Amino acid sequence: MKKYFDGTVVPENLRIVNAQKSIRTNDIENVGRTARHQTMFEMLGNFSLGDYFKKEALQWAWEFLTSPNWIGFDPERLYVTVYPKDEEAKRIWQDEIGLSSDHIIEMEDNFWDIGAGPSGPDTEIFYDRGQKFNDLSDDDPENYPGGENERYLEIWNLVFSEFNHKSDDTYEPLPNKNIDTGMGLERIVSVIQDAPTNFETDLFMPIIRDIQQISDRVKYGDNQDLDVSFRVIADHIRALAFAIADGALPSNEGRGYVLRRLLRRAVMHGQKLGINQSFLYRLVGTVGKIMSSYYPEVLQQQTFVEKVIKTEEQRFYETINEGMAILDQLLAKEKSEQSQMIQGADIFKLYDTYGFPVELTEEIASEAGFEVDHAGFEKEMQAQRERARNARNNEQSMKLQSSLLTEVNVASEYVGYTTLETESALV
Ligand code: ATP
Ligand code: MG
Ligand code: MG
Ligand code: MG
Repeated sequence: MKKYFDGTVVPENLRIVNAQKSIRTNDIENVGRTARHQTMFEMLGNFSLGDYFKKEALQWAWEFLTSPNWIGFDPERLYVTVYPKDEEAKRIWQDEIGLSSDHIIEMEDNFWDIGAGPSGPDTEIFYDRGQKFNDLSDDDPENYPGGENERYLEIWNLVFSEFNHKSDDTYEPLPNKNIDTGMGLERIVSVIQDAPTNFETDLFMPIIRDIQQISDRVKYGDNQDLDVSFRVIADHIRALAFAIADGALPSNEGRGYVLRRLLRRAVMHGQKLGINQSFLYRLVGTVGKIMSSYYPEVLQQQTFVEKVIKTEEQRFYETINEGMAILDQLLAKEKSEQSQMIQGADIFKLYDTYGFPVELTEEIASEAGFEVDHAGFEKEMQAQRERARNARNNEQSMKLQSSLLTEVNVASEYVGYTTLETESALV
């Protein structure tokens, strides 16, 4: 939309609505643990390219959410956050829509800005799922709409794209004032279906039931830790199936590496459920069926998608088997030296050099009666993170980086193998 927002191209239609398949890997650690995050989700949007603006966008959003003709949410359950300086948004919510002031929260974060390019204040709409999802104490500073909690669910972000963030870090008005909104379909569905998380909905439960059947050992709902694994697998197989149907393939680079990582995480979570063989490919049909009325592409290419996933699963099992062999040697060596402990540096090397999952190392070592130097491993991880951070700091400031990202005229180098930012292990 950027070329429309900045006025370089005038579109045929000034009003657009869409449903986007979105993949966000920055949420990967949240998936399965919070109620509301997936790696792949559907974002429903409406866009105004210099046509309607704040007043209409807010009024229509409110109508869509609360009118019995549409979603029909109880207005009392809805809260909004606004950018503190955005007096206009505050006024519209309060005076024109009639929201009481205790449902309007000012938040400094409510400014959409991804570096150089269109930006502007935004307003976000939250649904209060009620006391039963209250996971924090009442006086916890995060226990409000906009905080990190499970009670107040962010369902919709409405961005008023009216500035151009220039490379010299100043903001100038865009030729037009634009609207850019994103609403999470699965979150809306979870509220409508009164589900504890996005996953206990008809978008995911058929996949979870299939996993349960394949596992044949644990049931969803029996154990909180294992429930996370069910949800991670259900999420990751959906992202994988769609990305592959859209033409991406697992590999060691760029987006392909994202797929490889999703698949490996899913396999490892499968192991926690007692699944020790290729199984993800067997879920593709179910993913395709759930989504087929709107997205026929997965079912149409089912055989191909299954084949890609199965091959990749088998390759990962080979990696695991190689890692096992190296680990066996390591354990034998420690034993011959009368040691009862597997060293952190060795765990790290297995992970870093061979891609062997830490949890697996630790599990196997403890089963063989060894102590695990987990602190030593964490120390190695920390050192690696620092090396990565220093490498980054030495390069460019964030400001320079954002213009680099938007003026893409040189080939980029992928550094994800050595500088993963948030991940402490594969799982
Ligand atoms: P959160 O604060 O909950 O992580 P966000 O502020 O990062 O969400 P936005 O960037 O504002 O999300 O995206 C617009 C909408 O898309 C959100 O309001 C939400 O409904 C949905 N959404 C965002 N991230 C996810 C995700 N990982 N899984 C499912 N839905 C999402
Ligand atoms: Mg987020
Ligand atoms: Mg948010
Ligand atoms: Mg948001």
